[in-house]
This record gives sequence, structure tokens and C-alpha cells, in this order.
Amino acid sequence: MDIDIRELNKYLGLVPIMAKMNPLSLAFLPRPNPFIFSSSKKILEILDDGQLVLDNHHPYYLTLDWQPELESRFLAVKVNHNPLTPELNNVLSEQWDWICSVLVKQSNISDYIFENFIGFDCCILVLVDGLSWHDFIGNWKSDIVNQAQPIIVDGISKTDLGMTRILGNPPLVERLPIDNAYGFSYWDRTNPLTDILFSGFGSRVEKIKSFDNVLGQIQNLNLEKTYIQIVRQGLDEICHRHRDRPSPENYVHELRKDFENLINLVIEKKQSAQIFLTSDHGILWQNNTDFEYINIGNKNYHPRYINFHRASPKVQMFSEISFASEPLSHVLMGALKYPYIVRNLKSNEWGVHGGISFEESIVPLLKYEIF
Ligand SMILES: [Zn+2]
Repeated sequence: MDIDIRELNKYLGLVPIMAKMNPLSLAFLPRPNPFIFSSSKKILEILDDGQLVLDNHHPYYLTLDWQPELESRFLAVKVNHNPLTPELNNVLSEQWDWICSVLVKQSNISDYIFENFIGFDCCILVLVDGLSWHDFIGNWKSDIVNQAQPIIVDGISKTDLGMTRILGNPPLVERLPIDNAYGFSYWDRTNPLTDILFSGFGSRVEKIKSFDNVLGQIQNLNLEKTYIQIVRQGLDEICHRHRDRPSPENYVHELRKDFENLINLVIEKKQSAQIFLTSDHGILWQNNTDFEYINIGNKNYHPRYINFHRASPKVQMFSEISFASEPLSHVLMGALKYPYIVRNLKSNEWGVHGGISFEESIVPLLKYEIF
């Protein structure tokens, strides 16, 4: 039987339910997560024992452990619900821990890439500066979106923190079993963040003006036992200052063309590769958001995060790397929840990031394998 999430809510507590659904959708149920039974057999054992007592951990009998032979003992349902829409903002901060336990975290991407890099000549990682799951899914327009998975940015959604979170510590370049590493960046080589992101690459880092530049260079490389890391502009550059209202559609379209050209180039070179694309954070666009200004008592340069500790139900604290100290240490920083801002936006700030929201905190991880 197909039902929606409202109907599921209605049946909870009335009957034992075995459901096929996106576990992320559980965040939309009204009781604390995680509360579901991991085993359908366990529910039946309890019921057969006559112990009908539910507690805070299990306020109702619900399991996603689908066992066809047990269907007749449950209300067996398929729940049609897409949790990856702006409605996630209604539950994101409240269900943060649960959501982080269901999705791959940005801080685990490097482990994921490292563990999966078996038997390939080459690993290529494209780091896009600013691309939300929402803008990606809405504008990419090719079948490849079915191979993408949503990632949760598990901290302040800021460029330097997002990028370093993706690369991990020690960074991927030092972990992968490779002989050669090449870096390409749209940013200046003198940008301190470029130094951090490409430490371990030695002199093999180039500033590039266009993606065709990168493709031209890769054309001449032997990709055996090679890691290539590319920092490419994304929606971050157009969100902070842009004369006219920017068009995310066009940017995502260009990005898609570049990624497809990269895939085709590696296929032509007849070498096996894993090609990844991900982003440091998404963008919360001004024209889609009813921001609410809150006065937090300090002058704030950044509308969506604070560098000091101030307990507030509108702020979520994270322990983040401080790049100002040597050696690097951790500091507490506050991410504004949706839809709060601590400074009013200027007219040419088309979007913001730094806080936690569906738009800022859920980004894509795209993997394409060439055998
Ligand atoms: Zn960024």
C-alpha cells in the first residue's frame, strides 16, 4: 500500500508498521529520533510476548527492516515522501543528529573516496565552490543526477572550513596510494587557502583561467597512479557580488558541460578512473528566503555565522579549525539556524552561506567510474 507521510503519522501508535521509505523522511515524524526498531522480528517477539509497553525510545512499532514473509503481520506500506526539499528546514536543526547519522557527512567524504579507490589508475576530485543539492538537482538535467548522493555539511557552511573538511586530515593526497598528484585552482596561488588545500602537491599546482585549461593539461598526463584535484568556481562567486541577478541555471549548466568533457577526455585516454564532484557548501538565495534579523549584540560581518560563543536557541555551535593559529587548533563557532541572520543583507548580496539550512548544508557528491 502506498501512503504519504501524513498518513504514516496517523497510523503510528495504532498498528505495527513495516515501511519502505527514505530513512531521512523519519526526521519529519513528530517524535524524537532514532526511535524505530531495527528488526521486524523483534517487534513480533514483543507483541507475541504480550509486552505492549512502549517507551521514549520506541514510542510506536515502526521498522524499515522489510521482510516479505512477515508482511501479513504488519501494516506493510511504501511511504512516498521526498525529504530533500526546502521543507527540511522545518526539522533540520531539531533532528540534526539523526540527519547526520543517515547521510554521509562532509567530514567523511575523504574516507569514502580513500576506501573506494581500489583497482583504478586515477582519482579525480572536482571541488566546486558553492553548489547546493537543491541547485544541483534542479538544474543539472542529465541522468547522472541519479548517481549523486546528498551529503550533509557537518559544520559551519563556509568555504575554507568546507573545503578542508572534504579533504580530511591528513589530506587525501597523502592517503591515496598514488605516485603523482596534480592540482588546478581558479584561485590565486598566493591565496592562503590554496596553500592549505594543495599542501602535499609541491610545485604541481597551477592557477587556471578556464576548465578547458585543465582539460588541455590532463590531455598530456599519464594518469597511472595519479590523483588530480581541481578547485572550480561555483555559485559562491556570484552570490556575494554580482551586478545583476545571477542565474544559477546557467552556472550549473556550464559546470555540467565541464564535468562531461572531463569524463569524455578520460574515456578517450583509455585509463580507469574514479571522478568525483562535490561542493564546500550550498547557497541560501535571498529571493527565496524570508530572513529574520536577530540582534546578537556584536557587530557582525557575516550574516549567517558568528565567531564567538553566545548560547541561543537560534544558533548551533560547532567546534571548527581556527586557521589563525599555528599549529592549527579548534574554536567554537556558531551557525545561524534557518531563517535567521545577524546582519541585514546588502542589495547585491544575492545569497548567503555559513549557517545551517537545507540550501546551505546539503550538497551533492557525484561519482563517475570509468573501467
Ligand atoms: Zn565557498
